[in-house]
Amino acid sequence: MIETPKNLTRNILLGLLLGFLVASFLYYTNFFPTTFKNFIQEYIFNLGGDIFLNLLKLMVVPLVFFSLVSGISSLSDMRSLGSITIKTVGLYLFTTTIAVSMSLLVGSIIQPGAGYSSGYPSSIESLPQGQSLYDTIVNIFPKNIFQAFVENQMLAIVFFSIIFGIALNKTNHLTDNFSNAFERLNTVFMQLVIMIMTFAPIGVFCLIGRFVIADGLDIFQDVFVYVLLLISLLLFHALFTYSILLRYFAKLSPLTFFKKMREPILFAFSTSSSAATIPVTLKTTSQDLGVNKNVASFVVPVGATINMDGTAIMQGLATVFIAQISGIDLTLFQYIQIVLLAVATSIGTAAVPSAGIITLVIILQQFNLPLEAIGIILAVDRVLDMLRTSVNISGDATVACIVSSSEGNLDRDQFTYK
Ligand code: ASP
Repeated sequence: MIETPKNLTRNILLGLLLGFLVASFLYYTNFFPTTFKNFIQEYIFNLGGDIFLNLLKLMVVPLVFFSLVSGISSLSDMRSLGSITIKTVGLYLFTTTIAVSMSLLVGSIIQPGAGYSSGYPSSIESLPQGQSLYDTIVNIFPKNIFQAFVENQMLAIVFFSIIFGIALNKTNHLTDNFSNAFERLNTVFMQLVIMIMTFAPIGVFCLIGRFVIADGLDIFQDVFVYVLLLISLLLFHALFTYSILLRYFAKLSPLTFFKKMREPILFAFSTSSSAATIPVTLKTTSQDLGVNKNVASFVVPVGATINMDGTAIMQGLATVFIAQISGIDLTLFQYIQIVLLAVATSIGTAAVPSAGIITLVIILQQFNLPLEAIGIILAVDRVLDMLRTSVNISGDATVACIVSSSEGNLDRDQFTYK
């Protein structure tokens, strides 16, 4: 097994704290001239953050491709692939349904929009366009694999890796065990991920600093109840729903799970991107949580793409909130429609920062809710995005553990090993 650098989690936390303090100091005081502040913002926070993000993203496609191909090509029984797929997709839909239903229910009881009176912002930037369910499905089957690689189309890459792995599996006796090459390449890329992770404390210092120095933290005042409620729901879902699922379906200790998930959670928090976090989630699930490598290499990239419980929670609550501040009463039938729509569209939501807002636009349009109201949510969305991305990837890892356990190939000693 490849070793991770010592004290990494502690150093990442220090990086986060330091980035937060330095950026807050620069944002809230006039101790330094503006030119100096701008320089730090541009050439330390922005530049450092972008380089770190680029390096992480650089790993995603090759890592997913090599790990999935090496996994599938070494499967002795291809039937397990079908059962892994069904369980994975089923569990993802199940957890997302729980997530959005819970946020709708709590949102309609507590009514975070009830006392809101500030009105809509006068102008909002142009809103992103979503991808239809039809396109999402058809794009799983790429017509050009290089285009899929270049455009980071995760589901298309997963599909191609699977069929390529199957073909390799069937021809190993003719190709002098060519699949070994993929196994080795996978090991090399894992090593690369760990080398990049070594720089994570500096990377997160820049990412958090770039966020704080741009906007400060005053933006929350207006929609304080919404923010507080959303954070509580996200924490509840991560700490309770996942814990119950882990205990009930996989007989695993949630405490150990979350202890071992510290690194991917911190990465997701600082990058706001499940996709950029794939390398770290893959490493943690397969090396620390004992999830079988074949299962992890399928469940994690698929999950990063289609499983977004944190995002669904935000969408449910934001929809209710916007309906409330606009004085629109939603019917029970509409609530059910929102659940279905949020689950369906979350599949097509890209695993990148703020992508959840795109899906929110689709939901609001569907129910004729005022799109301008998104401006209120957008102002506070960046930091909430960090939190919900952490929930999104925790959901992926939870499902990976459950699927691996149900397939009988979860390494329980590895899971409990410190
Ligand atoms: N940033 C989220 C993710 O990558 C998606 C979103 O909710 O905006 O998982």
